[in-house]
Amino acid sequence: SAPARAQIGVTGLAVMGSNIARNFARHGHTVALHNRSVAKTDALIAEHGSDGDFVRTESVEEFVGALQKPRRVLIMVKAGEATDAVIEELAAAMEPGDIIIDGGNALYTDTIRREAALRERGLHFVGAGISGGEEGALNGPSIMPGGPKESYAALGPLLESVAAVVDGTPCCTHIGPDGSGHFVKMVHNGIEYADMQLIGEAYHLFRDALGFDAGQIADVFTEWNAGTLESYLIEITAEVLRQKDAKTGNALVDVIVDAAEQKGTGRWTVKSALDLGVPVTGIAEAVFARALSGSREQRKAAVGLASGALGDKPSDVAQFTEDIRAALYASKIIAYAQGFDQIKAGSVEYSWDLKPADLATIWRGGCIIRAQFLNRIKEAYDQNPELPSLVLAPYFREAIETGIDSWRRVVATATTLGIPVPGFASSLSYYDGLRAERLPAALTQGQRDYFGAHTYERIDGPGKFHTLWSGDR
Ligand code: NAP
Repeated sequence: SAPARAQIGVTGLAVMGSNIARNFARHGHTVALHNRSVAKTDALIAEHGSDGDFVRTESVEEFVGALQKPRRVLIMVKAGEATDAVIEELAAAMEPGDIIIDGGNALYTDTIRREAALRERGLHFVGAGISGGEEGALNGPSIMPGGPKESYAALGPLLESVAAVVDGTPCCTHIGPDGSGHFVKMVHNGIEYADMQLIGEAYHLFRDALGFDAGQIADVFTEWNAGTLESYLIEITAEVLRQKDAKTGNALVDVIVDAAEQKGTGRWTVKSALDLGVPVTGIAEAVFARALSGSREQRKAAVGLASGALGDKPSDVAQFTEDIRAALYASKIIAYAQGFDQIKAGSVEYSWDLKPADLATIWRGGCIIRAQFLNRIKEAYDQNPELPSLVLAPYFREAIETGIDSWRRVVATATTLGIPVPGFASSLSYYDGLRAERLPAALTQGQRDYFGAHTYERIDGPGKFHTLWSGDR
């Protein structure tokens, strides 16, 4: 059997696992390799063996035996039952003090359960959110490891060495106990959904309100990427729009079926937000917009339904272009504000003591939502860790105030043109709701007390009240 010389082991060598294994090797770590079927292990060594020092193993016992103590194993298999099966095999072969890291997209409640079970057996379990897709895994992802603080001493430097780096700071930090790493990764993905939806709505408006072709829209996004919207998603949007279809020579985006798919992390984020009672309208609208786009039969049947009288297209193209930019920026601020609210609520619910500024810091590089913008979020929470909402931070408050007229114009224009903008519109409604002095909820409370004696509070003093409403039976 192989000598115990590897600093880290990676099991699950599909695209993510093999890329992160290569990343470790390229940073000078000896990496033990394992996969259920040995073919993937051999393929990795055949194609990329020159990346660094790999130890080829076949059985789990051989794999575990190849690792220096405390043993560190990163699991990169399909999330769900496969992860449980692999954890069980590893745990049986490992010893107290060893560290199992799950780098897959696990549901955070599974991570809480797994961490508790492994702690009983003396093993450290680290649920690590890893973002950045295959490219990030190879060249530097954003890593969100949760789990016991002690394990980070033996693991942190190793993970930080392969993470993306921004301004000298690695995009990896200990997030908090048990499921917190996977929780923040989930919310990160939810924010990613919202961000993509908002970009999609901007694209839709350029296409249908201004009549731009894909190339023209690509140029706008390229220009935006030089300003406050600078981000990975804006950058790749321009590239996607510029791509030509080899078969027809047309813009590729115009031949792609307009039915968005999803793997589930957006849905998880919304489910969790519902349980926590946090309005993440931007993320929810994004998840539902994908669902609507995917309802292909229903949509086919509904084409041709009445639109009513539609308004005129904007006549000032430059002004409307700027309006869309401002609406996108303001709506994006709302989406992030809501996501960070959910993180704060999760932190309270599970006693995780999460640090929003740290999350903004490690999301600046490596991950899909990496953006200039995250520096502003970090500054906002550095200045005031107790910030009641991101929109109240001076920078964001001013950004919204500057763009608010544009934002309203875009939502109003889209409505009169019959162009759906669920992200822009719901974000504006959320903002108007947040800043409202008096919401219609007083009426809701009256109704609830009327039919269910649920009681209400009064504006002029403490206490719970019930009224014998005139119509009460
Ligand atoms: P994947 O397609 O999700 O999973 C394939 C890997 O899982 C293969 O190595 C496979 O082994 C192994 N596997 C499946 N069932 C197993 C079982 N019952 N026992 C042991 N091994 C089993 O791979 P991926 O796309 O590289 O993703 C890996 C993880 O990273 C997932 O949790 C994913 O959600 C997460 N993730 C992916 C991305 C991305 O951009 N793709 C980004 C972030 C996170 P065999 O070769 O033997 O079939």
